[in-house]
Amino acid sequence: MSQTLFEKIIARQIPADIVYEDEQVLAFKDIKPQAPVHVLLIPKKPIVRIAEAKSGDEAVLGHLLLKAPTVAKKMGLSETGFRLVINNGRDAGEAVPHLHCHILGGRPMGWPPG
Ligand code: 5GP
Repeated sequence: MSQTLFEKIIARQIPADIVYEDEQVLAFKDIKPQAPVHVLLIPKKPIVRIAEAKSGDEAVLGHLLLKAPTVAKKMGLSETGFRLVINNGRDAGEAVPHLHCHILGGRPMGWPPG
Protein backbone atom coordinates (compact mmCIF):
# COMPACT_ATOMS: atom_id res chain seq x y z
CA MET A 1 0.00 0.00 0.00
CA SER A 2 1.22 3.52 -0.73
CA GLN A 3 2.27 5.71 2.17
CA THR A 4 -0.10 8.26 3.57
CA LEU A 5 0.84 11.92 3.74
CA PHE A 6 1.41 11.59 7.47
CA GLU A 7 3.66 8.54 7.06
CA LYS A 8 5.75 10.68 4.70
CA ILE A 9 5.94 13.38 7.40
CA ILE A 10 7.04 10.74 9.94
CA ALA A 11 9.71 9.58 7.47
CA ARG A 12 10.80 13.22 6.87
CA GLN A 13 9.99 12.85 3.17
CA ILE A 14 7.63 15.83 3.51
CA PRO A 15 8.61 18.75 5.74
CA ALA A 16 6.53 19.68 8.77
CA ASP A 17 6.93 21.94 11.77
CA ILE A 18 7.42 19.22 14.38
CA VAL A 19 6.72 20.23 17.98
CA TYR A 20 6.97 16.86 19.79
CA GLU A 21 8.23 13.39 19.02
CA ASP A 22 8.84 10.17 20.89
CA GLU A 23 9.03 6.51 19.88
CA GLN A 24 5.27 6.17 19.42
CA VAL A 25 3.85 9.55 18.39
CA LEU A 26 4.64 12.68 16.42
CA ALA A 27 3.09 16.15 16.75
CA PHE A 28 3.38 18.88 14.13
CA LYS A 29 1.65 22.15 13.27
CA ASP A 30 -1.34 21.91 10.95
CA ILE A 31 -0.61 23.45 7.55
CA LYS A 32 -3.98 25.26 7.58
CA PRO A 33 -4.50 26.28 11.21
CA GLN A 34 -8.04 26.77 12.45
CA ALA A 35 -6.93 28.43 15.69
CA PRO A 36 -3.82 30.29 16.92
CA VAL A 37 -2.52 26.88 18.03
CA HIS A 38 -3.43 23.93 15.80
CA VAL A 39 -1.27 20.85 16.13
CA LEU A 40 -1.83 17.34 14.78
CA LEU A 41 -0.82 14.50 17.11
CA ILE A 42 -0.46 11.17 15.32
CA PRO A 43 0.61 7.64 16.15
CA LYS A 44 3.64 6.51 14.17
CA LYS A 45 1.78 3.25 13.67
CA PRO A 46 -0.43 3.85 10.61
CA ILE A 47 -3.87 3.26 12.14
CA VAL A 48 -6.29 4.43 9.42
CA ARG A 49 -8.90 5.99 11.68
CA ILE A 50 -10.20 5.53 15.22
CA ALA A 51 -12.99 3.22 14.01
CA GLU A 52 -10.33 0.88 12.61
CA ALA A 53 -8.19 0.70 15.72
CA LYS A 54 -7.90 -2.79 17.17
CA SER A 55 -7.72 -4.06 20.73
CA GLY A 56 -3.95 -4.45 20.27
CA ASP A 57 -3.75 -0.69 19.71
CA GLU A 58 -4.75 0.13 23.29
CA ALA A 59 -1.24 1.04 24.37
CA VAL A 60 -0.56 3.40 21.48
CA LEU A 61 -4.01 5.01 21.78
CA GLY A 62 -3.49 5.50 25.51
CA HIS A 63 -0.08 6.99 24.88
CA LEU A 64 -1.49 9.34 22.24
CA LEU A 65 -4.15 10.67 24.63
CA LEU A 66 -1.69 10.97 27.50
CA LYS A 67 0.68 13.00 25.33
CA ALA A 68 -1.99 15.48 24.17
CA PRO A 69 -1.74 17.56 27.38
CA THR A 70 2.06 17.39 27.17
CA VAL A 71 1.96 18.88 23.67
CA ALA A 72 -0.73 21.40 24.68
CA LYS A 73 1.45 22.52 27.59
CA LYS A 74 4.43 22.88 25.27
CA MET A 75 2.30 25.09 23.03
CA GLY A 76 1.35 27.33 25.96
CA LEU A 77 -2.23 26.12 26.40
CA SER A 78 -2.12 24.81 29.98
CA GLU A 79 -3.81 27.82 31.56
CA THR A 80 -6.34 28.71 28.85
CA GLY A 81 -7.33 25.20 27.78
CA PHE A 82 -7.51 23.30 24.53
CA ARG A 83 -9.79 21.12 22.46
CA LEU A 84 -9.00 17.65 21.12
CA VAL A 85 -10.76 16.59 17.91
CA ILE A 86 -10.65 13.28 16.05
CA ASN A 87 -12.55 13.28 12.77
CA ASN A 88 -13.76 9.85 11.67
CA GLY A 89 -15.25 9.40 8.22
CA ARG A 90 -16.90 11.57 5.61
CA ASP A 91 -19.47 13.46 7.65
CA ALA A 92 -16.82 14.38 10.22
CA GLY A 93 -14.59 15.82 7.49
CA GLU A 94 -11.80 13.28 7.76
CA ALA A 95 -9.36 14.03 4.95
CA VAL A 96 -6.19 12.08 5.75
CA PRO A 97 -6.51 8.29 6.30
CA HIS A 98 -4.00 8.16 9.16
CA LEU A 99 -5.40 8.61 12.66
CA HIS A 100 -4.73 12.11 13.96
CA CYS A 101 -5.85 14.10 16.95
CA HIS A 102 -6.25 17.84 16.41
CA ILE A 103 -5.06 19.95 19.37
CA LEU A 104 -6.67 23.37 19.09
CA GLY A 105 -6.32 26.37 21.34
CA GLY A 106 -5.37 29.99 21.76
CA ARG A 107 -8.93 31.31 21.39
CA PRO A 108 -12.36 30.51 22.87
CA MET A 109 -14.02 27.60 21.06
CA GLY A 110 -17.66 27.56 20.06
CA TRP A 111 -20.02 24.72 20.89
CA PRO A 112 -21.50 22.82 19.17
CA PRO A 113 -18.71 22.55 16.60
CA GLY A 114 -19.66 23.27 12.98
P1 5GP B 1 -8.86 15.88 8.98
O1 5GP B 1 -9.75 16.79 8.19
O2 5GP B 1 -8.52 14.61 8.24
O3 5GP B 1 -9.35 15.63 10.38
O4 5GP B 1 -7.52 16.69 9.20
C1 5GP B 1 -6.46 16.68 8.30
C2 5GP B 1 -5.61 17.88 8.62
O5 5GP B 1 -4.36 17.74 7.97
C3 5GP B 1 -6.21 19.21 8.14
O6 5GP B 1 -6.43 20.07 9.25
C4 5GP B 1 -5.18 19.74 7.18
O7 5GP B 1 -5.03 21.14 7.22
C5 5GP B 1 -3.92 19.00 7.60
N1 5GP B 1 -2.95 18.82 6.54
C6 5GP B 1 -3.22 18.40 5.27
N2 5GP B 1 -2.08 18.32 4.56
C7 5GP B 1 -1.07 18.70 5.41
C8 5GP B 1 0.35 18.81 5.24
O8 5GP B 1 0.93 18.54 4.19
N3 5GP B 1 1.06 19.23 6.32
C9 5GP B 1 0.46 19.54 7.51
N4 5GP B 1 1.24 19.94 8.50
N5 5GP B 1 -0.87 19.43 7.70
C10 5GP B 1 -1.64 19.01 6.66
